[in-house]
Amino acid sequence: MKRKSVTKNRTALLCAVILLSVCFLPLLLCGCGQQDERLNFYTIEAVFDDEQKSLTCSQRLEYVNATDNALDKVCFFLYANAFNEGQKAVPNSYLDRAYPHEASFGGIDVRGVSVDGVQAEFLVCDGGNILTVSLQNQLFPDECVTIEMEYVVRLANIRHRLGYGDSTINFGNFFPIACVYENGFVKNDFSTSGDPFYSEVANFEVKISYPDKYILASTGMQTLNEENLDGTLPQSLAAGNIKTTICKAEKVRDFCFVLSEKFSVLSEKVGDVDVNYFYYDDAQASHHLETAKKAISTFCDLFGEYPYSQFSVVKADFCFGGMEYPNLVLIADDLLEEDVDYVITHETAHQWWYGLVGNNEFENAWVDEGLTEFSCALFFEQHPEYGISYQQIMDGATQTYKTFVRTYAGVYEGTGKVFDESMNRTLTQFATEPEYVNLTYTKGMLMFDSIRSTMSDRKFFKCLQNYFEDYKFKNSSAEKLTESFSESSHINMKKFITAWTNGQTVIGG
Ligand SMILES: [Zn+2]
Repeated sequence: MKRKSVTKNRTALLCAVILLSVCFLPLLLCGCGQQDERLNFYTIEAVFDDEQKSLTCSQRLEYVNATDNALDKVCFFLYANAFNEGQKAVPNSYLDRAYPHEASFGGIDVRGVSVDGVQAEFLVCDGGNILTVSLQNQLFPDECVTIEMEYVVRLANIRHRLGYGDSTINFGNFFPIACVYENGFVKNDFSTSGDPFYSEVANFEVKISYPDKYILASTGMQTLNEENLDGTLPQSLAAGNIKTTICKAEKVRDFCFVLSEKFSVLSEKVGDVDVNYFYYDDAQASHHLETAKKAISTFCDLFGEYPYSQFSVVKADFCFGGMEYPNLVLIADDLLEEDVDYVITHETAHQWWYGLVGNNEFENAWVDEGLTEFSCALFFEQHPEYGISYQQIMDGATQTYKTFVRTYAGVYEGTGKVFDESMNRTLTQFATEPEYVNLTYTKGMLMFDSIRSTMSDRKFFKCLQNYFEDYKFKNSSAEKLTESFSESSHINMKKFITAWTNGQTVIGG
Protein backbone atom coordinates (compact mmCIF):
# COMPACT_ATOMS: atom_id res chain seq x y z
CA MET A 1 0.00 0.00 0.00
CA LYS A 2 1.07 3.58 -0.45
CA ARG A 3 0.16 5.77 2.45
CA LYS A 4 -0.71 9.37 1.81
CA SER A 5 0.79 11.34 -1.01
CA VAL A 6 4.41 11.73 -1.93
CA THR A 7 5.74 14.89 -3.45
CA LYS A 8 8.72 15.23 -5.73
CA ASN A 9 10.77 16.52 -2.80
CA ARG A 10 9.82 13.49 -0.79
CA THR A 11 8.89 15.64 2.13
CA ALA A 12 6.17 13.22 3.03
CA LEU A 13 6.69 9.52 2.58
CA LEU A 14 3.60 7.78 3.47
CA CYS A 15 2.08 6.30 2.38
CA ALA A 16 4.20 -26.96 -5.44
CA VAL A 17 5.67 -28.36 -6.06
CA ILE A 18 4.39 -30.03 -9.28
CA LEU A 19 2.56 -33.21 -8.43
CA LEU A 20 3.30 -35.54 -11.28
CA SER A 21 1.15 -38.48 -12.22
CA VAL A 22 3.03 -40.85 -9.90
CA CYS A 23 1.32 -39.12 -6.99
CA PHE A 24 -2.24 -38.97 -8.26
CA LEU A 25 -3.63 -41.59 -5.88
CA PRO A 26 -4.16 -39.26 -2.89
CA LEU A 27 -5.77 -36.75 -5.21
CA LEU A 28 -8.27 -39.26 -6.50
CA LEU A 29 -9.03 -40.40 -2.95
CA CYS A 30 -9.97 -36.94 -1.79
CA GLY A 31 -11.65 -35.79 -4.95
CA CYS A 32 -9.24 -32.94 -5.65
CA GLY A 33 -8.27 -34.24 -9.01
CA GLN A 34 -8.54 -31.14 -11.19
CA GLN A 35 -5.16 -29.66 -10.69
CA ASP A 36 -1.70 -30.80 -11.59
CA GLU A 37 0.09 -28.58 -9.12
CA ARG A 38 0.11 -28.86 -5.38
CA LEU A 39 -1.39 -25.44 -4.91
CA ASN A 40 -4.66 -24.49 -3.30
CA PHE A 41 -7.33 -23.95 -5.93
CA TYR A 42 -10.19 -21.51 -5.30
CA THR A 43 -13.29 -21.66 -7.50
CA ILE A 44 -15.73 -18.87 -6.69
CA GLU A 45 -19.12 -18.05 -8.21
CA ALA A 46 -20.06 -14.51 -7.21
CA VAL A 47 -23.26 -12.63 -7.97
CA PHE A 48 -23.29 -8.89 -7.35
CA ASP A 49 -26.55 -7.28 -6.24
CA ASP A 50 -26.22 -3.63 -7.17
CA GLU A 51 -29.21 -2.49 -5.11
CA GLN A 52 -28.16 -4.21 -1.94
CA LYS A 53 -24.45 -3.67 -2.63
CA SER A 54 -23.86 -7.27 -1.67
CA LEU A 55 -21.99 -10.18 -3.20
CA THR A 56 -23.46 -13.66 -2.87
CA CYS A 57 -20.77 -16.32 -3.27
CA SER A 58 -20.33 -20.07 -3.56
CA GLN A 59 -16.71 -20.93 -2.97
CA ARG A 60 -14.98 -24.25 -3.47
CA LEU A 61 -11.43 -24.62 -2.22
CA GLU A 62 -9.32 -27.62 -3.01
CA TYR A 63 -7.02 -27.33 -0.03
CA VAL A 64 -3.69 -29.10 -0.04
CA ASN A 65 -1.98 -29.89 3.24
CA ALA A 66 1.47 -28.56 2.39
CA THR A 67 2.56 -28.76 6.05
CA ASP A 68 4.44 -31.55 7.82
CA ASN A 69 1.58 -32.05 10.28
CA ALA A 70 -1.77 -33.80 10.22
CA LEU A 71 -4.53 -31.17 10.31
CA ASP A 72 -7.93 -31.43 11.96
CA LYS A 73 -9.06 -27.98 10.90
CA VAL A 74 -8.40 -25.25 8.36
CA CYS A 75 -8.51 -21.55 9.28
CA PHE A 76 -9.50 -18.68 7.02
CA PHE A 77 -9.02 -14.92 7.32
CA LEU A 78 -12.27 -12.94 7.03
CA TYR A 79 -11.03 -9.46 6.18
CA ALA A 80 -14.56 -8.41 5.15
CA ASN A 81 -15.49 -8.30 8.84
CA ALA A 82 -13.03 -5.43 9.36
CA PHE A 83 -15.97 -3.30 8.15
CA ASN A 84 -18.38 -4.55 10.82
CA GLU A 85 -19.99 -2.05 13.09
CA GLY A 86 -17.78 -2.05 16.16
CA GLN A 87 -14.60 -2.46 14.14
CA LYS A 88 -12.43 0.47 13.15
CA ALA A 89 -11.79 0.38 9.41
CA VAL A 90 -9.45 3.40 9.13
CA PRO A 91 -7.26 5.51 11.43
CA ASN A 92 -9.04 8.62 12.76
CA SER A 93 -6.97 10.87 10.51
CA TYR A 94 -8.46 9.13 7.43
CA LEU A 95 -12.13 9.24 8.40
CA ASP A 96 -12.98 12.19 6.13
CA ARG A 97 -11.22 10.68 3.14
CA ALA A 98 -12.68 7.22 3.72
CA TYR A 99 -16.38 7.88 4.18
CA PRO A 100 -17.88 9.86 1.27
CA HIS A 101 -21.12 10.32 3.17
CA GLU A 102 -21.89 9.03 6.65
CA ALA A 103 -20.39 6.15 8.60
CA SER A 104 -21.26 2.88 6.90
CA PHE A 105 -20.69 -0.76 7.73
CA GLY A 106 -20.31 -4.09 5.99
CA GLY A 107 -19.17 -7.61 6.73
CA ILE A 108 -19.43 -11.23 5.70
CA ASP A 109 -22.07 -13.77 6.66
CA VAL A 110 -20.89 -17.34 6.29
CA ARG A 111 -24.05 -19.39 5.74
CA GLY A 112 -22.80 -22.95 5.40
CA VAL A 113 -19.64 -24.99 5.01
CA SER A 114 -19.09 -28.53 3.76
CA VAL A 115 -16.00 -30.68 3.63
CA ASP A 116 -15.79 -33.28 0.86
CA GLY A 117 -19.53 -32.86 0.34
CA VAL A 118 -20.51 -33.37 3.98
CA GLN A 119 -21.85 -30.50 6.08
CA ALA A 120 -19.11 -29.33 8.42
CA GLU A 121 -18.84 -27.51 11.71
CA PHE A 122 -17.48 -24.00 11.48
CA LEU A 123 -16.84 -21.15 13.85
CA VAL A 124 -16.24 -17.44 13.30
CA CYS A 125 -14.05 -16.23 16.13
CA ASP A 126 -11.26 -13.85 17.24
CA GLY A 127 -13.42 -10.76 16.79
CA GLY A 128 -14.84 -11.96 13.51
CA ASN A 129 -11.56 -12.17 11.62
CA ILE A 130 -11.03 -15.95 11.68
CA LEU A 131 -13.25 -18.72 10.28
CA THR A 132 -12.30 -22.16 11.56
CA VAL A 133 -13.59 -25.17 9.62
CA SER A 134 -13.41 -28.55 11.36
CA LEU A 135 -12.37 -31.52 9.24
CA GLN A 136 -14.18 -34.83 9.83
CA ASN A 137 -10.97 -36.78 9.24
CA GLN A 138 -7.38 -35.84 9.79
CA LEU A 139 -5.74 -34.42 6.71
CA PHE A 140 -2.24 -35.81 6.39
CA PRO A 141 0.67 -34.07 4.66
CA ASP A 142 0.25 -33.84 0.88
CA GLU A 143 -3.39 -34.88 1.09
CA CYS A 144 -6.12 -32.68 -0.27
CA VAL A 145 -9.63 -31.87 0.89
CA THR A 146 -12.49 -29.95 -0.76
CA ILE A 147 -13.96 -27.20 1.41
CA GLU A 148 -17.09 -25.54 0.04
CA MET A 149 -18.82 -22.56 1.56
CA GLU A 150 -21.69 -20.19 0.94
CA TYR A 151 -21.42 -16.60 2.08
CA VAL A 152 -22.70 -13.10 1.48
CA VAL A 153 -20.41 -10.06 1.56
CA ARG A 154 -22.12 -6.77 2.47
CA LEU A 155 -20.26 -3.70 1.26
CA ALA A 156 -19.84 -0.56 3.29
CA ASN A 157 -20.06 2.84 1.61
CA ILE A 158 -16.36 3.47 2.12
CA ARG A 159 -13.45 4.38 -0.14
CA HIS A 160 -11.47 1.34 0.89
CA ARG A 161 -10.14 -1.99 -0.40
CA LEU A 162 -13.57 -3.50 0.06
CA GLY A 163 -16.44 -1.05 -0.33
CA TYR A 164 -18.03 1.38 -2.74
CA GLY A 165 -17.67 5.07 -3.40
CA ASP A 166 -19.18 7.38 -5.97
CA SER A 167 -17.14 5.97 -8.87
CA THR A 168 -15.97 2.42 -8.18
CA ILE A 169 -16.99 -0.71 -6.29
CA ASN A 170 -13.88 -2.37 -4.87
CA PHE A 171 -13.65 -6.06 -4.06
CA GLY A 172 -10.27 -6.40 -2.39
CA ASN A 173 -9.87 -9.25 0.14
CA PHE A 174 -13.59 -10.09 -0.15
CA PHE A 175 -13.38 -13.88 0.17
CA PRO A 176 -12.35 -16.20 3.04
CA ILE A 177 -8.70 -16.95 2.31
CA ALA A 178 -6.82 -19.85 3.90
CA CYS A 179 -4.41 -18.77 6.62
CA VAL A 180 -0.76 -19.66 6.12
CA TYR A 181 0.36 -22.55 8.34
CA GLU A 182 3.57 -22.07 10.34
CA ASN A 183 3.62 -24.13 13.55
CA GLY A 184 -0.15 -23.57 13.48
CA PHE A 185 -2.37 -21.34 11.40
CA VAL A 186 -1.18 -17.72 11.36
CA LYS A 187 -4.11 -15.61 12.57
CA ASN A 188 -3.49 -11.95 11.94
CA ASP A 189 -5.63 -9.25 13.50
CA PHE A 190 -7.46 -6.52 11.67
CA SER A 191 -5.34 -3.38 11.59
CA THR A 192 -6.19 0.12 10.41
CA SER A 193 -2.51 0.70 9.59
CA GLY A 194 -0.85 -1.18 6.77
CA ASP A 195 -1.91 -4.33 4.97
CA PRO A 196 -2.73 -7.07 7.51
CA PHE A 197 -2.36 -9.85 4.94
CA TYR A 198 -0.40 -13.07 4.54
CA SER A 199 -1.20 -15.82 2.06
CA GLU A 200 0.25 -18.53 -0.17
CA VAL A 201 0.13 -18.46 -3.95
CA ALA A 202 -2.85 -20.37 -5.29
CA ASN A 203 -4.87 -20.90 -8.47
CA PHE A 204 -8.18 -19.10 -8.98
CA GLU A 205 -11.22 -19.38 -11.20
CA VAL A 206 -13.74 -16.68 -10.30
CA LYS A 207 -17.05 -16.36 -12.12
CA ILE A 208 -18.58 -12.93 -11.53
CA SER A 209 -22.13 -11.91 -12.53
CA TYR A 210 -22.93 -8.19 -12.48
CA PRO A 211 -25.09 -5.58 -14.23
CA ASP A 212 -23.76 -5.07 -17.73
CA LYS A 213 -23.49 -1.31 -17.27
CA TYR A 214 -20.30 -2.00 -15.36
CA ILE A 215 -16.79 -2.53 -16.66
CA LEU A 216 -14.75 -5.08 -14.77
CA ALA A 217 -11.06 -4.88 -13.86
CA SER A 218 -9.64 -7.99 -12.20
CA THR A 219 -6.74 -10.20 -11.32
CA GLY A 220 -6.06 -12.86 -13.99
CA MET A 221 -7.37 -13.26 -17.52
CA GLN A 222 -11.02 -12.63 -18.31
CA THR A 223 -13.39 -14.47 -20.61
CA LEU A 224 -17.04 -13.58 -21.05
CA ASN A 225 -19.37 -16.40 -20.10
CA GLU A 226 -22.49 -16.87 -22.22
CA GLU A 227 -24.25 -19.40 -20.03
CA ASN A 228 -27.07 -18.25 -17.81
CA LEU A 229 -27.17 -18.69 -14.09
CA ASP A 230 -30.82 -19.78 -14.20
CA GLY A 231 -32.70 -19.19 -11.02
CA THR A 232 -29.69 -18.09 -9.02
CA LEU A 233 -29.93 -14.37 -9.58
CA PRO A 234 -31.58 -12.08 -7.03
CA GLN A 235 -34.77 -10.35 -8.22
CA SER A 236 -33.05 -6.99 -8.58
CA LEU A 237 -30.42 -8.52 -10.85
CA ALA A 238 -32.74 -10.70 -12.88
CA ALA A 239 -34.65 -7.59 -13.92
CA GLY A 240 -31.69 -5.98 -15.64
CA ASN A 241 -29.10 -7.07 -18.11
CA ILE A 242 -26.48 -9.20 -16.49
CA LYS A 243 -23.16 -10.27 -17.78
CA THR A 244 -20.94 -12.96 -16.41
CA THR A 245 -17.19 -12.93 -16.67
CA ILE A 246 -14.85 -15.77 -15.78
CA CYS A 247 -11.45 -14.75 -14.45
CA LYS A 248 -8.65 -17.29 -14.31
CA ALA A 249 -5.41 -16.67 -12.49
CA GLU A 250 -2.60 -19.08 -11.72
CA LYS A 251 0.03 -18.82 -9.01
CA VAL A 252 -1.21 -15.59 -7.43
CA ARG A 253 -1.63 -14.95 -3.71
CA ASP A 254 -4.93 -13.09 -3.82
CA PHE A 255 -7.74 -12.14 -6.16
CA CYS A 256 -9.28 -8.68 -6.52
CA PHE A 257 -11.81 -7.08 -8.83
CA VAL A 258 -13.25 -3.61 -9.31
CA LEU A 259 -16.47 -2.52 -11.04
CA SER A 260 -17.23 0.91 -12.45
CA GLU A 261 -19.62 2.51 -14.91
CA LYS A 262 -17.09 5.27 -15.45
CA PHE A 263 -14.09 3.27 -16.61
CA SER A 264 -12.33 4.00 -19.86
CA VAL A 265 -9.51 1.59 -20.66
CA LEU A 266 -6.15 2.07 -22.34
CA SER A 267 -4.05 -1.01 -23.12
CA GLU A 268 -0.62 -1.55 -24.58
CA LYS A 269 1.84 -4.41 -24.56
CA VAL A 270 5.20 -4.58 -22.82
CA GLY A 271 6.77 -7.73 -24.25
CA ASP A 272 4.04 -10.36 -23.79
CA VAL A 273 2.30 -8.50 -20.97
CA ASP A 274 -0.88 -6.50 -21.58
CA VAL A 275 -0.62 -3.38 -19.46
CA ASN A 276 -4.04 -1.78 -18.86
CA TYR A 277 -5.09 1.50 -17.33
CA PHE A 278 -8.70 1.68 -16.10
CA TYR A 279 -9.47 5.32 -15.44
CA TYR A 280 -11.94 8.19 -15.30
CA ASP A 281 -11.40 11.95 -15.17
CA ASP A 282 -7.77 11.77 -16.24
CA ALA A 283 -6.40 14.15 -18.88
CA GLN A 284 -2.97 12.47 -18.49
CA ALA A 285 -4.20 8.91 -19.02
CA SER A 286 -1.69 8.07 -21.80
CA HIS A 287 1.17 9.36 -19.69
CA HIS A 288 0.07 7.27 -16.70
CA LEU A 289 -0.20 4.15 -18.87
CA GLU A 290 3.31 4.89 -20.09
CA THR A 291 4.56 5.08 -16.49
CA ALA A 292 2.99 1.70 -15.70
CA LYS A 293 4.62 0.21 -18.82
CA LYS A 294 8.01 1.66 -17.94
CA ALA A 295 7.68 0.37 -14.36
CA ILE A 296 6.89 -3.18 -15.50
CA SER A 297 9.75 -3.10 -17.99
CA THR A 298 12.27 -1.57 -15.54
CA PHE A 299 11.50 -3.98 -12.70
CA CYS A 300 11.67 -6.96 -15.11
CA ASP A 301 15.17 -5.80 -16.07
CA LEU A 302 16.30 -5.09 -12.50
CA PHE A 303 14.75 -8.01 -10.56
CA GLY A 304 13.40 -10.72 -12.86
CA GLU A 305 10.53 -11.60 -15.16
CA TYR A 306 6.90 -10.64 -14.54
CA PRO A 307 5.37 -14.07 -15.20
CA TYR A 308 1.75 -13.12 -15.89
CA SER A 309 -0.10 -12.06 -19.04
CA GLN A 310 -1.65 -8.84 -17.78
CA PHE A 311 -1.19 -5.99 -15.35
CA SER A 312 -3.88 -3.43 -14.60
CA VAL A 313 -3.58 -0.05 -12.94
CA VAL A 314 -7.05 0.86 -11.71
CA LYS A 315 -8.12 4.32 -10.64
CA ALA A 316 -10.54 3.93 -7.77
CA ASP A 317 -12.36 5.34 -4.80
CA PHE A 318 -9.65 4.71 -2.24
CA CYS A 319 -8.48 6.65 0.79
CA PHE A 320 -4.87 5.45 1.18
CA GLY A 321 -3.12 6.48 -2.06
CA GLY A 322 -2.70 3.05 -3.60
CA MET A 323 -3.08 -0.65 -2.92
CA GLU A 324 -1.49 -3.72 -4.44
CA TYR A 325 -3.09 -6.99 -5.56
CA PRO A 326 -1.75 -9.60 -7.94
CA ASN A 327 -2.01 -8.32 -11.53
CA LEU A 328 -4.02 -5.32 -10.34
CA VAL A 329 -3.27 -2.19 -8.33
CA LEU A 330 -5.59 0.52 -7.06
CA ILE A 331 -4.60 4.15 -7.52
CA ALA A 332 -6.63 6.61 -5.46
CA ASP A 333 -8.66 9.10 -7.47
CA ASP A 334 -7.87 11.91 -5.02
CA LEU A 335 -4.10 11.91 -5.53
CA LEU A 336 -2.38 15.13 -6.50
CA GLU A 337 -1.33 14.91 -10.14
CA GLU A 338 2.34 15.27 -9.15
CA ASP A 339 2.08 12.12 -7.00
CA VAL A 340 0.40 9.78 -9.47
CA ASP A 341 3.56 8.55 -11.23
CA TYR A 342 5.17 7.79 -7.87
CA VAL A 343 2.18 5.83 -6.60
CA ILE A 344 1.86 3.87 -9.87
CA THR A 345 5.55 3.00 -9.60
CA HIS A 346 5.26 2.01 -5.93
CA GLU A 347 2.26 -0.25 -6.49
CA THR A 348 3.82 -1.79 -9.59
CA ALA A 349 6.99 -2.65 -7.63
CA HIS A 350 4.71 -4.55 -5.23
CA GLN A 351 4.11 -7.07 -8.02
CA TRP A 352 7.64 -8.26 -7.20
CA TRP A 353 7.73 -7.54 -3.45
CA TYR A 354 4.41 -8.86 -2.13
CA GLY A 355 2.87 -10.40 -5.25
CA LEU A 356 5.65 -12.74 -6.30
CA VAL A 357 7.88 -12.72 -3.20
CA GLY A 358 5.43 -12.81 -0.32
CA ASN A 359 5.91 -12.13 3.37
CA ASN A 360 3.79 -11.73 6.46
CA GLU A 361 2.79 -8.11 5.98
CA PHE A 362 1.19 -7.97 9.42
CA GLU A 363 4.30 -9.24 11.20
CA ASN A 364 7.08 -7.46 9.32
CA ALA A 365 5.75 -4.86 6.92
CA TRP A 366 9.17 -3.40 6.11
CA VAL A 367 10.15 -6.58 4.22
CA ASP A 368 7.89 -5.70 1.31
CA GLU A 369 7.15 -1.99 1.90
CA GLY A 370 10.80 -1.01 2.48
CA LEU A 371 11.97 -2.86 -0.61
CA THR A 372 9.07 -1.49 -2.64
CA GLU A 373 9.89 2.11 -1.68
CA PHE A 374 13.53 1.45 -2.47
CA SER A 375 12.50 0.01 -5.86
CA CYS A 376 10.75 3.30 -6.64
CA ALA A 377 14.04 5.13 -6.10
CA LEU A 378 15.70 2.66 -8.48
CA PHE A 379 12.99 3.37 -11.05
CA PHE A 380 13.56 7.13 -10.93
CA GLU A 381 17.31 6.55 -11.09
CA GLN A 382 16.70 4.73 -14.38
CA HIS A 383 14.29 7.38 -15.65
CA PRO A 384 15.72 10.89 -15.34
CA GLU A 385 12.87 12.20 -17.53
CA TYR A 386 10.70 12.34 -14.37
CA GLY A 387 13.05 14.92 -12.83
CA ILE A 388 13.52 13.11 -9.49
CA SER A 389 16.99 11.74 -8.80
CA TYR A 390 17.83 8.74 -6.65
CA GLN A 391 19.91 10.96 -4.39
CA GLN A 392 17.09 13.49 -4.01
CA ILE A 393 14.82 10.68 -2.88
CA MET A 394 17.35 9.40 -0.33
CA ASP A 395 18.14 12.91 0.96
CA GLY A 396 14.45 13.69 1.27
CA ALA A 397 13.82 10.41 3.12
CA THR A 398 16.71 11.09 5.49
CA GLN A 399 15.37 14.53 6.33
CA THR A 400 11.85 13.16 6.74
CA TYR A 401 13.10 10.45 9.07
CA LYS A 402 15.22 12.83 11.15
CA THR A 403 12.28 15.19 11.55
CA PHE A 404 10.11 12.25 12.62
CA VAL A 405 12.67 11.17 15.23
CA ARG A 406 13.08 14.67 16.61
CA THR A 407 9.32 15.15 16.83
CA TYR A 408 8.58 11.81 18.43
CA ALA A 409 11.52 11.86 20.82
CA GLY A 410 10.02 15.16 22.02
CA VAL A 411 6.55 13.63 22.32
CA TYR A 412 7.90 10.80 24.47
CA GLU A 413 10.11 13.04 26.61
CA GLY A 414 9.07 13.04 30.25
CA THR A 415 6.43 10.34 29.74
CA GLY A 416 8.69 7.61 31.07
CA LYS A 417 8.24 5.74 27.77
CA VAL A 418 11.19 5.09 25.47
CA PHE A 419 10.87 6.15 21.84
CA ASP A 420 11.30 2.94 19.90
CA GLU A 421 12.90 2.97 16.41
CA SER A 422 12.67 -0.79 15.84
CA MET A 423 11.16 -2.08 12.61
CA ASN A 424 10.31 -5.72 13.43
CA ARG A 425 6.86 -5.14 14.87
CA THR A 426 3.36 -6.26 14.07
CA LEU A 427 1.09 -3.61 12.55
CA THR A 428 -0.86 -3.27 15.78
CA GLN A 429 2.35 -2.55 17.72
CA PHE A 430 2.85 0.78 15.97
CA ALA A 431 1.32 3.39 18.27
CA THR A 432 0.55 5.89 15.52
CA GLU A 433 0.27 6.08 11.74
CA PRO A 434 3.46 8.24 11.39
CA GLU A 435 5.43 5.64 13.37
CA TYR A 436 4.25 2.90 11.03
CA VAL A 437 4.98 4.91 7.88
CA ASN A 438 8.40 6.20 8.92
CA LEU A 439 9.71 2.98 10.42
CA THR A 440 8.39 0.77 7.65
CA TYR A 441 8.59 2.73 4.40
CA THR A 442 11.14 5.47 5.00
CA LYS A 443 13.55 3.60 7.24
CA GLY A 444 13.08 0.44 5.20
CA MET A 445 14.08 2.25 2.02
CA LEU A 446 17.08 3.90 3.69
CA MET A 447 18.21 0.50 4.94
CA PHE A 448 18.30 -0.93 1.42
CA ASP A 449 20.22 2.13 0.24
CA SER A 450 22.66 1.53 3.09
CA ILE A 451 23.05 -2.15 2.10
CA ARG A 452 23.72 -1.00 -1.48
CA SER A 453 26.52 1.27 -0.23
CA THR A 454 28.39 -1.69 1.32
CA MET A 455 29.04 -3.46 -1.98
CA SER A 456 29.43 -2.97 -5.72
CA ASP A 457 26.26 -2.38 -7.72
CA ARG A 458 26.97 -5.57 -9.65
CA LYS A 459 26.91 -7.56 -6.42
CA PHE A 460 23.95 -5.65 -5.00
CA PHE A 461 21.70 -6.26 -7.99
CA LYS A 462 22.76 -9.91 -7.97
CA CYS A 463 21.52 -10.02 -4.35
CA LEU A 464 18.14 -8.62 -5.38
CA GLN A 465 17.86 -10.96 -8.38
CA ASN A 466 18.84 -14.05 -6.38
CA TYR A 467 16.41 -13.10 -3.61
CA PHE A 468 13.62 -12.74 -6.16
CA GLU A 469 14.49 -16.01 -7.91
CA ASP A 470 14.73 -17.97 -4.63
CA TYR A 471 11.46 -16.72 -3.18
CA LYS A 472 9.17 -16.02 -6.13
CA PHE A 473 5.83 -17.79 -5.63
CA LYS A 474 6.89 -18.39 -2.02
CA ASN A 475 7.01 -16.51 1.26
CA SER A 476 10.06 -14.75 2.59
CA SER A 477 10.70 -13.14 5.99
CA ALA A 478 13.18 -10.75 7.60
CA GLU A 479 15.43 -13.71 8.40
CA LYS A 480 15.20 -15.24 4.94
CA LEU A 481 15.93 -11.90 3.28
CA THR A 482 18.99 -11.45 5.52
CA GLU A 483 20.25 -14.98 4.76
CA SER A 484 19.68 -14.55 1.04
CA PHE A 485 21.56 -11.24 0.88
CA SER A 486 24.40 -12.69 3.01
CA GLU A 487 24.74 -15.70 0.73
CA SER A 488 24.71 -13.70 -2.49
CA SER A 489 27.07 -10.98 -1.28
CA HIS A 490 29.42 -13.30 0.67
CA ILE A 491 29.09 -10.74 3.47
CA ASN A 492 27.43 -11.65 6.77
CA MET A 493 24.59 -9.11 6.72
CA LYS A 494 22.97 -10.29 9.95
CA LYS A 495 24.53 -7.73 12.31
CA PHE A 496 24.14 -4.94 9.76
CA ILE A 497 20.45 -5.55 9.06
CA THR A 498 19.66 -6.31 12.72
CA ALA A 499 21.17 -2.97 13.77
CA TRP A 500 18.71 -1.27 11.42
CA THR A 501 15.69 -3.32 12.40
CA ASN A 502 16.23 -3.21 16.17
CA GLY A 503 16.71 0.56 16.18
CA GLN A 504 20.45 0.83 16.92
CA THR A 505 21.43 2.43 13.63
CA VAL A 506 21.46 6.23 13.81
CA ILE A 507 20.20 7.76 10.58
CA GLY A 508 21.68 10.94 9.20
CA GLY A 509 24.09 11.46 12.14
ZN1 LIG B 1 3.16 -0.31 -0.50
